[in-house]
Amino acid sequence: MLSEFELIDRFFLQRARQARAYGRAAHLGIGDDCALLSPPAGQDIAVSTDMLVSGRHFLPDVDAIRLGHKSLAVNLSDLAAMGATPAAFTLSLALPSAHAAWLEGFSNGLFALAERFDCELVGGDTTAGPLTISITVFGHVPRGQALRRDAAQHGDDIWVSGNLGDARLALGLFRNEWDIDQPAATLLDVRDAMETPEPRVKLGLALRGVAHAAIDLSDGLIGDLAHILRRSGKMASVNVDAIPRSARLAAQTTQIQRMCTVAGGDDYELCFTAPVSARGRLKDIAAESNIALTRIGTISDTASDVATQPGTIAWVDAADAPISLSLTGFDHFE
Ligand code: ADP
Ligand code: MG
Repeated sequence: MLSEFELIDRFFLQRARQARAYGRAAHLGIGDDCALLSPPAGQDIAVSTDMLVSGRHFLPDVDAIRLGHKSLAVNLSDLAAMGATPAAFTLSLALPSAHAAWLEGFSNGLFALAERFDCELVGGDTTAGPLTISITVFGHVPRGQALRRDAAQHGDDIWVSGNLGDARLALGLFRNEWDIDQPAATLLDVRDAMETPEPRVKLGLALRGVAHAAIDLSDGLIGDLAHILRRSGKMASVNVDAIPRSARLAAQTTQIQRMCTVAGGDDYELCFTAPVSARGRLKDIAAESNIALTRIGTISDTASDVATQPGTIAWVDAADAPISLSLTGFDHFE
C-alpha cells in the first residue's frame, strides 16, 4: 500500500515537475503550505472550482485515464467560457484506497490534458474517502475582456459550438432509459462525448472582443442559456431544430433528440451571444479553430408581461411555429 505522501510524490509532484508548464504560473508550487502564483501584469485571475462525485458525475467503473481527463476538462471549460487562458490548478482527491494502477491511469489522463493547455498543477489535498475529485483552476484574462454571463444585448444572435446532446444520449443508453435497440458502435461513439469532453479553450480566447456573453454548457442548454438571460435581464427565442447534433443523435426519435439537445447536460460546448455584425468574423473563427459554430436564436429585451420575463426562452421549430417544451436543466437537488 502507498502512503499519502508517496502517493502525492509519485503521481502528482513528480509529474508536475516534469511538465512543460512547470514554474510558469507559480514561483512556488507543490510542497509548501501554499503555492505562490505570479499573474501577468494588468490581467485578472479567473478562478473556478468543479467537483466530481462517483455515481453522480461519473459511472463508478469509468476508466481512470478518462476520469483524469474529464476532471480537468470540466474545469478548463469554465475558463474557456470566460475567455481566460489556463495557468494553474489544484487537485483535491478523496480516494477509497491507494491503488497504484488506478492512480497511474488517472494521473496520465489528467496530465495529458494539463500539458496540452500548459496548465500547471500547483497543489492539492489528498484524503481517504468515497471517490471525489475537486479541481480549482486559475486562468488569466486581460482586465475588462472576460466573457461574462451578464453581457447579452438586445438583437444578439445566440450561438453554440460543436454538437449538443451526445453525452445525454450516452447516459440514456447506459441506463436503458429508452426502449431502443442500438448498434454497439453508437454507444462507443457517444460514450466519448460523455467521458472525454474537449474544453473549448482556444475558441473562448478567440471570442474575446467578439462575443458579448458566454457560458459553457454543463447542465443543459435550457438551464444554462437561462443563466445568461437572467443575469443580462433579457429573453430569447430559440429554434430547437437548429440546435446542432451528431448523425447518431439525429437518427433517434424527435422526442429523444429534443430532450438530449435541449436538456442534456455534460456537453461542455460554449453558448454565447454576439451582435449580428460579428457573423463574418465568427465564420472565420469557426474555420480557424475547426469547430462548427451554429446560430440557434436571438436575444431580445423583455416586455412587462409574464410571458417575456428575464430568463424566458420562446422555443420555435424549423417552420417558426411556437412549441412548448416541458424540459428543465439539470439540478442536483430537484
Ligand atoms: P497540508 O497539511 O497543508 O494540507 P499536505 O500534507 O496535505 O499539506 O500536502 C503537502 C503538499 O502536497 C502541499 O503543498 C499540497 O498542496 C500538496 N498536495 C497534496 N495533495 C495533492 C494532490 N492530490 N495533488 C497535488 N498536490 C497535492
Ligand atoms: Mg492536506
